[in-house]
Amino acid sequence: MKILIIEDEESLAKLLKMGLKKEGYAADYVLDGELGQKRIELYHRDYDAVILDLMLPKKSGLEVLKNIRQLNVSIPVLILTAKDSLDDKVTLLDAGADDYLIKPFHFNEVLARLRALTRRPEKVLPAELRIADLVLVPETKIVSRNGKEIKLTLKEFRLLEYLMRRPNQAVEREDLVDNIWDFQFDSLSNIVDVYINRLREKIDKDSGKKLIETIHGVGYKIKT
Ligand code: CA
Repeated sequence: MKILIIEDEESLAKLLKMGLKKEGYAADYVLDGELGQKRIELYHRDYDAVILDLMLPKKSGLEVLKNIRQLNVSIPVLILTAKDSLDDKVTLLDAGADDYLIKPFHFNEVLARLRALTRRPEKVLPAELRIADLVLVPETKIVSRNGKEIKLTLKEFRLLEYLMRRPNQAVEREDLVDNIWDFQFDSLSNIVDVYINRLREKIDKDSGKKLIETIHGVGYKIKT
């Protein structure tokens, strides 16, 4: 497992790298947004996840995040942020962040989040899930609709997978939060809706048949 750290506070970058090393992870760090983006563009296949600070010289973490998602790079991104307002969280998630940590944080939290972001699907699961012309392959994390590949972030992928494993069932928001996010998101009760909207943009927008249905006051279901 190899992690890229983009953090301008070198003492923190070093601490993260050392801590990760102790846990058996490999880690590199770069100290500004421009270098970080270049590194991701050229070498994202070498890394399993990115730890990305928001306040960076030369290019902000948010810009880096938006740019790499525009380039269809789907590597899991854990954001480090000092800010703590709802708007910022929604902006981050909308921009394609998979998770975030508010500074200051405990190193164990970093590890837990990284584990969740890079967790491999279990081997016993069916090779592919199919609903209408929507196909999801857990092993390769490839999703396609009508034969056309759709790029999803890891969280979007997990959410879709969870729904597709329960076709025609109304899945409650709380159920989704508990099972997809692993952590308490009390301060962001609309996180599920934010992600569902993103999934709809990617999966349903260009198709005549809408698969994701809202169950008013309950949650969502995917219908066959
Ligand atoms: Ca910083």
